[in-house]
Amino acid sequence: MKALGPIPSGYEAIGGVLGVGGKPVTHWVAQAGGETPLFLYSADLVRSRVAELRAALPEQVALHYAVKANPFGPLLSLMAGLVDGFDIASGGELERIRAAGLPLGKVSFAGPGKRDAELEAAIRAGVTLNLESAGEARRAIAIGDRLGTRPRLAIRVNPDFDLKGSGMKMGGGAKPFGVDAELVPALTREIVQSGAEWRGFHIFAGSQALDAEAIAEAQGQTLVLAARLASESAVALPHCNLGGGLGIPYFPGDAPLDLSLVGGRLGEQMQSLPDILRETEFCIELGRYLVGEAGVYIARIVDRKISHGEVFLVTDGGLHHQLAASGNFGTVVRRNYPSAIATRFVAPVEEEASIVGCLCTPLDKLADKGGFPIAQEGDLIAVFCAGAYGASASPAQFLGQGPAREMLV
Ligand SMILES: *Cc1c(COP(=O)(O)O)cnc(C)c1O
Repeated sequence: MKALGPIPSGYEAIGGVLGVGGKPVTHWVAQAGGETPLFLYSADLVRSRVAELRAALPEQVALHYAVKANPFGPLLSLMAGLVDGFDIASGGELERIRAAGLPLGKVSFAGPGKRDAELEAAIRAGVTLNLESAGEARRAIAIGDRLGTRPRLAIRVNPDFDLKGSGMKMGGGAKPFGVDAELVPALTREIVQSGAEWRGFHIFAGSQALDAEAIAEAQGQTLVLAARLASESAVALPHCNLGGGLGIPYFPGDAPLDLSLVGGRLGEQMQSLPDILRETEFCIELGRYLVGEAGVYIARIVDRKISHGEVFLVTDGGLHHQLAASGNFGTVVRRNYPSAIATRFVAPVEEEASIVGCLCTPLDKLADKGGFPIAQEGDLIAVFCAGAYGASASPAQFLGQGPAREMLV
């Protein structure tokens, strides 16, 4: 039997069935007209996660939501009342923010390959552009001139360090992201001289780290780098986005991040800021840490079959909605996400079974040889940690399947 990842806290059985948002998942499936698969996002779990963060982080560090983790409209609306700003990574995400009716002045836009039309839409909307290269800076300035609008410009810095132990390294060495640190002072001066509204730096060192010491160390290095680049540029820094990288436990053996250590160390760092950063506003940007554990993916068992003595629970879901859980989104070795038989949530483990999807590929595995109660056709399965990089980061059109329904509950 292979271990399953740890089920996040906050999930309990209601009448033997997995509960989300105070109701058994069968209730939500019935509300969806009996249709599965289904993503359920718990508003309560998002709220309590934000409250934990607010309690742990120093007050002067603002909290931003990285929309790419989950751009579901109702979730964005919920977030609007909880966080201080939004970070987007495409013109499409800008349209999602606009469609949700959220204020655009608190939005910043990072990401390589911004097209002129995206730059223009962002400048018109008053969105801060985190510029990824000198070429992009010049295009943004030219578009601002043409529109007669002062663009709000920040530089995304490619730091000369990375976040140790992070699942996805986004800084250190040659990268498509950000401007190499040594090129930043000259570009900063060019932006300031252009008459654009200078907004400061965005320094993102990595993602999905569970080691609080490593995060604290990267935050310290980020502050040192920001101070050095600001003084070399001889400009003040109105704003500095310190990145994020706070991870969640997905796999067997993963332990939750020590948030109090991260917050405590950041608090100490804020107390001893170098002079040049005394007036700077800071934020961190988080995606999965805010929403990942608040989401569950529910699918129905269509077929229970035994092949060469192994049990396969064949569902109506799969990697087209949960690419990461299938192990095909940036992992080297496939390991099991947390999963369960949602309709037998408190039943003891009775057998070894694999939960697979309905796609005709051996990659389509949601749980490999896990220990489960004996489940039958019609039972619902749950894959946890589905609130981030699930629906929007999976190939929903593969095999003509189409997207899953999503509900904020
Ligand atoms: C992807 C990304 C994030 C969000 O990462 P999480 O691991 O979901 O917190 C934040 N900032 C930038 C620049 C990103 O590219």
